[in-house]
Parts: sequence; structure tokens; C-alpha cells
Amino acid sequence: LASETARYLEQAEEYGAHNYHPLPIVVSEAFGAWVTDVDGKRYLDCLAAYSALNFGHGHPVLVDAAKAQLDRVTLTSRAFHNDRLGPFLEGLAKLAGKQMVLPMNTGAEAVESAVKIARAWGYRVKGVEPGRAKIIVAEGNFHGRTTTIISFSTDPEARADFGPYTPGFVAVPYGDADALAAAIDDDTVAVLIEPIQGEAGIIIPPDEYLPEVRRLTRSSNVLFIADEIQSGLGRTGATFQCDNAGVIPDLYLLGKALGGGIVPVSAVVGDADVLGVLRPGEHGSTFGGNPLAAAVGLAVVGLLESGDYQRRAAALGEHLRGRLEALIGRGVLAVRVAGLWAGVDIDPALASGRRVAELLAERGVLAKDTHGSTIRLAPPIVIEQDELDWAVDQLEAVLASL
Ligand code: PLP
Repeated sequence: LASETARYLEQAEEYGAHNYHPLPIVVSEAFGAWVTDVDGKRYLDCLAAYSALNFGHGHPVLVDAAKAQLDRVTLTSRAFHNDRLGPFLEGLAKLAGKQMVLPMNTGAEAVESAVKIARAWGYRVKGVEPGRAKIIVAEGNFHGRTTTIISFSTDPEARADFGPYTPGFVAVPYGDADALAAAIDDDTVAVLIEPIQGEAGIIIPPDEYLPEVRRLTRSSNVLFIADEIQSGLGRTGATFQCDNAGVIPDLYLLGKALGGGIVPVSAVVGDADVLGVLRPGEHGSTFGGNPLAAAVGLAVVGLLESGDYQRRAAALGEHLRGRLEALIGRGVLAVRVAGLWAGVDIDPALASGRRVAELLAERGVLAKDTHGSTIRLAPPIVIEQDELDWAVDQLEAVLASL
């Protein structure tokens, strides 16, 4: 039976570009927090597609919304309107407490869109000299893989050999409001940050950081753009991590879970004074706002409206925090937890994060290392507490075996 897995691995190796190094598991089915591979082995999904599966695999409400829409209409392009788009835009705007939504597909497209919006706002509203707009980002950021976005990455692996790079960005240390204050000048149009840095290893800034970013950007007439593509939509125990920090950015960038793990759906969400700078013909996407995406996105908004998922993530996350903190000194150097989202720093003297992820998979837990020796845990919010406990038991067993 194991030959089934081997066959698919060989095929992907031979015919696929080698831009990933996945764990050797070939998933063929999934429901809720569980996936099954081609050899019939079951795994508890503790990655949830980097938070794109916040509501779990095959959530019945989301699957029903998609299936119903498949039979009606799936694509119109934005040359015409469709009857799913308006309800989705209104629902998402109201969920976010903002006036307008720009629908796109991938997270990187939402980020690219925000860069364009911020620059246009800078020239047309703030009055920055043509060609001089500057956007401040944070060191250690991850905002996607396009040429412009990797231009302001500080990760050599993401950048090397992909230049020439797009100018107009300045990186300052994450979590350091003084460094940000020092970097802002008259040409600065926006500060673009993740409220928690996900890919960097669930890096949570000091409590006062986001409020200080808000204060600084407001007082210097600079936009605050919060990339909530991984942190938003329930993951941290709130609709947005900015809610937890008590701040309202000018633009929210959303993606991943917005498509319910079914279709790519992303969005830039903001008020008319900023998003309104875009004029017809200046920006768009063939698939952005398509009826299938809008139907699923509207259903996702519906799931988030009651606050049940946010509360569940917060409660399960507190439990997870207690379990993980008990591992410190037993193979774990540090843990960082925000809602149902955790970065677990494994002692590099014992094993690499990759090795721990492999051993977890052998025990039926899917998790992914990030940046060397950190394991990221981000299970679907539908996971049960006893399942979460079981996953931590497996981690404990793996650590004991090192
Ligand atoms: N922004 C953040 C914070 C992310 O975590 C990611 C993906 O991991 C992206 C943007 C890019 O999203 P996508 O892979 O859909 O382009």
C-alpha cells in the first residue's frame, strides 16, 4: 500500500517544479480537522493550510454555498455585475466596520493592490511628489511571493537571484515603534505590517506596538495597512488581530480563510477616503469577485458574524497555551500563542523543526516547521479539545524520543 504514496511522490518530483519541500504525505480526502492519505492513514491537521482552513475541511455550510453556486454561474468577469458580488462586498465591509471592499484572489494580490492604493493615495490625497512614495515595512515580514513583494522581504531565500527589486520600501525592526517613528518622513504613504508575523514564527509584538503604530501613522498622515491574511478571520480569537490590540487600521488585507479553503479569495477592506482613490480601469482581476468566490466568501462572512468561531479559537487557544508552556524545558525553548495559533521553538540542539514535523507526521499529526527550529500549530478552529490534547501528547512523545 505504501507504494501508492511513493508513486504520487515520484510523479510530483518528476513533473512538478521543485519550489516546495513538502512532507511526504499524499492527501486524498479530508473532513473537519482530519485528513486521509492515499494509503488510508489518517492525520490530525494542525496546519490548516496556513490558516486558509480556519473552518475545517469540507465545512457543510461552505461546501453547500459552493455547490449551489456551481450550478448557477461561476464567472462573469468584472465587465458585468453578478448577483453574489454585492452581498459579499456589503457583508464583508460590515463585518470589518469599513465602507468598501476591493475583491481579489490571492493574498499576494491583496498586498500588491494595497501598495498601488497607498501610492495613489499618497500622490492624489496626501500630495507626495510624483515617484517618491515610500512604504515602511517590518524586518522578518512575509507578504507573498511576487517580484514587488519579495523586493521588501528581508529573507535572503525569498529574494536572492530574483532582482532587480522594486524601489520605494524601507524595512525597520518589527515591534520597535521608535524605529518606525524615525523612518517616517514626508514621502511616507503607508506602514504595512502583519499584526502578528506568521511565517516568521508567530512573532507577537509588544502590547503597546500596534496602538503606537496607529498613533504615529495618524499623527503623520500615513496609512496603516494591516496584513491580516494569516492572522485574521478567527485565528487569533477575534475577527482581526487588530481587534485584540484595540486598533483599527486604514486598510485590512484579507485572504486565506476568506475563501473557506475552497477557492482563492482575498480582499482589501477600507473606507472610501482611501479605497475610493481607485478609478475605473486602473486596477482589476479577471477572477476577482467572481460569483463562486463571492458565494463562498459571503458564507465565510456568515460563519464569522456570530463570533462563535472567534470565541472558540480563544478558548481552545488558552487551553493550548497551558499545554505547550508545560513543555518548556522539556525540549522546547519558548512558545508564543495567540488564539489557536502557536509557535513552538524546539531546542535546535535536539532536532530541526523539519525533523520534528516528520516525527509528528509519523504519529498522525500534520504540522509544519518555519524558520529552522520553530513548529507552527494552527489547527482548524473546529478541532475538539480532546483532539488538540492528543496532538500535544504526540508532540510530547516526539520530544521525549529525541
Ligand atoms: N500575507 C501574509 C501575512 C501571509 O501569511 C501570506 C501567505 O502565507 C500572504 C500574504 C500571501 O498569500 P498568498 O500565498 O495567498 O499569495
